[in-house]
Amino acid sequence: MRGTRIAIIGGGIGGLSAALALQHFGFRVRVFEQARELREVGAGVVISPNAMHALNFLGVGARIAREAGPAGMYFSRHFQSGDVLKTRPNDFVERFGAAYHQLHRVDLQAALASAVLQNDPGCVLLDHCFESLVQDSERIVATFSNGATVTSEVLIGCDGSTSKVRACVFGDEVVNYTGQVAFRALVPMADAPARLRENPFAMFVGARRYFLHYPLRHRTIMNVIGVGREPNWQQEGWRIPAAVEEFASIYGDLYPPALQLIHAIPPGTLFKWGLRDREPLSQYTKGRVTMLGDAAHPMTPFLGQGACIAIEDAMVLGRAFAAADSFPEAFALYEGTRKERANGVQLASRRQADEIQGATTRGPNPGTDPVDRGLYAYNPVTVPLTAADAGRAVS
Ligand SMILES: Cc1cc2nc3c(=O)[nH]c(=O)nc-3n(C[C@H](O)[C@H](O)[C@H](O)COP(=O)(O)OP(=O)(O)OC[C@H]3O[C@@H](n4cnc5c(N)ncnc54)[C@H](O)[C@@H]3O)c2cc1C
Repeated sequence: MRGTRIAIIGGGIGGLSAALALQHFGFRVRVFEQARELREVGAGVVISPNAMHALNFLGVGARIAREAGPAGMYFSRHFQSGDVLKTRPNDFVERFGAAYHQLHRVDLQAALASAVLQNDPGCVLLDHCFESLVQDSERIVATFSNGATVTSEVLIGCDGSTSKVRACVFGDEVVNYTGQVAFRALVPMADAPARLRENPFAMFVGARRYFLHYPLRHRTIMNVIGVGREPNWQQEGWRIPAAVEEFASIYGDLYPPALQLIHAIPPGTLFKWGLRDREPLSQYTKGRVTMLGDAAHPMTPFLGQGACIAIEDAMVLGRAFAAADSFPEAFALYEGTRKERANGVQLASRRQADEIQGATTRGPNPGTDPVDRGLYAYNPVTVPLTAADAGRAVS
């Protein structure tokens, strides 16, 4: 098994985590990324204890903690009045054995990439946009738009929510616009209203919209996100420029200091996109190909778990390869262990949207806390591996 040629398509959070987990267990992998350089969008990402277990195990947890700085108390607040509806203390290490961090995505990607490249400097091949594949009983051949063809024994599709690998292997599917538009921006902390700086991690919930801000890089940057219902079709993608006036007008009745934060967004740094939803895959694996992260289970951001679940997938994939005698066995262990969990979070994220944005007669609803949904209690380093078909636990 250790000599298996493993191709990973996509060098995002899922693909790099998968590479790191497989390297940890002694496998040599190649990551094919379409971009000319490894880069991430300027936005925050929450890494909760379930994913931190894996990052600690893989040796990047300390760097992540250093980059993020200490987390604090989380507040759910009324959209208009700002009244505190609920608080959550920062007691994650005591409760779950791992910390909760708010990170700049660039810092997370850099931590993963440098660990992967330190293990194997030739691991990541940039400017490789996957186009198609053919597989038979011996091998799989992937073709890239730069004309390259790559032969491997297995291929892991980590190419995100608009996955071409998924389309090649499982066919095109209906993609639904969720009727939700997200805005994102980063604001220098010095420009954020003092009232928000005191308690910098808060989510404002109200009918049809929520607004979230939390600090990054030792409280030097405020990450800003708004997600609201917008029936008209909106473009997909992370990098669609938007005007601050548009954001401010849709959120015009927001708690005034939070609205001030919207107005503090530096010109030219606000982006928006329409959220798409895809149905969960009924199987992740076909022959020599399996899917991981958003490519397998693209999810809406309402539980802040897309990256965390991709990291969980990666950890379990590495363990499955280490435990198996053949790649079909490894894929069966991976899919058997992950499908219910990951698809379950994907569907829970949809329900969360209805809870936190649906309240009209009952007043604002902070939604079910991810802690109460059992999300953070999962540990991908120790969860028993269960084969998809046989349903047997092997460790
Ligand atoms: C508003 C918002 C907030 C979020 N907040 C959080 C949060 O707080 N916590 C959290 O856990 N998650 C969060 N997420 C979700 C999270 O960002 C994603 O789930 C995560 O990035 C998925 O990782 P991935 O590697 O599967 O996909 P991606 O990060 O999309 O990476 C895919 C990679 O594949 C590459 N690629 C694509 N096509 C090809 C191709 N044809 N050939 C080669 N390479 C290709 C891309 O360039 C990219 O590098 C949020 C998402 C949104 C929209």
